[in-house]
Amino acid sequence: MASYRAWFQCINGCEQRFSLFDVIYRCPTCGDLLDVAHDVEALKDRSAAAWISLFEERMRRNTWPHGSGVWGKKEWVIPYLRDENIVSMYEGGTNLFWAERYGKQVGVEDLWVKQCGNSHTGSFKDLGMTVLVSAVKQMIAEGRPIQAVACASTGDTSAALAAYCAAAGIPAIVLLPRDKVSPAQLVQPLANGALVLSLDTDFDGCMKVVQAITHDNTIYLANSMNSLRLEGQKTVAIELVQQFDWEVPDWVVIPGGNLGNVSALGKGFLMMRDIGLIQKLPRIAVAQAAHANPLYLSYQTGFRDFRPVTARKTLASAIQIGDPVSVKRAIRILERFDGVVEQASEQELADEAARADRTGMFNCPHTGVALAAFAKLVDRGVISRGDRVVVISTAHGLKFAEQKAAYHLGRLAPEVQPHHQNLPVEIPADVARVQQAIRAHAERLANA
Ligand SMILES: *Cc1c(COP(=O)(O)O)cnc(C)c1O
Ligand SMILES: [Zn+2]
Repeated sequence: MASYRAWFQCINGCEQRFSLFDVIYRCPTCGDLLDVAHDVEALKDRSAAAWISLFEERMRRNTWPHGSGVWGKKEWVIPYLRDENIVSMYEGGTNLFWAERYGKQVGVEDLWVKQCGNSHTGSFKDLGMTVLVSAVKQMIAEGRPIQAVACASTGDTSAALAAYCAAAGIPAIVLLPRDKVSPAQLVQPLANGALVLSLDTDFDGCMKVVQAITHDNTIYLANSMNSLRLEGQKTVAIELVQQFDWEVPDWVVIPGGNLGNVSALGKGFLMMRDIGLIQKLPRIAVAQAAHANPLYLSYQTGFRDFRPVTARKTLASAIQIGDPVSVKRAIRILERFDGVVEQASEQELADEAARADRTGMFNCPHTGVALAAFAKLVDRGVISRGDRVVVISTAHGLKFAEQKAAYHLGRLAPEVQPHHQNLPVEIPADVARVQQAIRAHAERLANA
């Protein structure tokens, strides 16, 4: 097999290249972020058809580590990572749910929801964390003095970091904004033995602190400004095209906070096109909560202007981010993918998650933001009824069980009316009363 190469390079194209195993997060020349660049010419030594059959052969099989959705694409991720250092929990390979009933209600029948939350720690963050923690394991094996890995998080990054580090036996440090993550998200890193620092600030505040403590190279930074994570996350683009037998959908709708995931999604599509696996690109829609919408505001100016905002509290807590680290990456991707940005209010995101739940899903609030944005784009005619659309579901609804219960019980937030409420019927354990309740329910359904 050819020896494929990959390296860190500045997103603005400054000349210098760095090893993926160097502890470096920013370009020393201009101070901007680094991306992982691949030797695409070398990857073209295999035909597109040969890559496709290799990826097909590996998908969800048992030859470790290639059954993982990420490591099945290893040559496109980190080609020369030694297999013995891979820390994998069989991430990826998630269901592409055909949202037939919900799609009919909205008016788009070719609608699919990529269930990235059906994963070890319940969110798509596993796709990136397997790559980052594997790279750290190799760095430590090569003698770099890394003592711990740290991240700031809105809840899902920290859960993933803690789990992968625990599996590898590497100490993890997570910085969380106090009272701004769900109980499940708080208990995940606690259970996995991470040092959990609950700070009296928001995500943006945690991000500043983590950058300061990782100046010292003994603590490695795991936030998505570190593009090793994006290399894993980009495989979602490859995987969903693979699930359509290598056909490209017309639209991908994705919720955005720090904007690493949309950047990764775009990168996956571009790489497939550059190596010849696909000929066209989809359009991309980023969905933001109206309470944390700096990209939406920038989109209104045609991306001429970008200003960070102070993110307000939102049910979609994982995207409560006012100053997204990957904004430059994301805007470049949206410009290449004829992209749009839409927003959703608290009412819209909660109702849309619940409405789609009625058709068999169990949505997290961020997926609610994406679904609400999707429905608005259909209403406005931006997304056409005949389009094939994929909505990226980013986390499992079970991580937000309290919030979802509060919706149905009508106790969510004063400004949210639960239009798709379904209350438990509390009655005595009496056969006649149960039969009466079933009849009343059937009548309500018939009259609805
Ligand atoms: C992290 C996260 C997002 C946002 O991804 P970004 O890369 O920060 O834009 C969306 N939804 C969930 C559930 C997340 O955990
Ligand atoms: Zn630079």
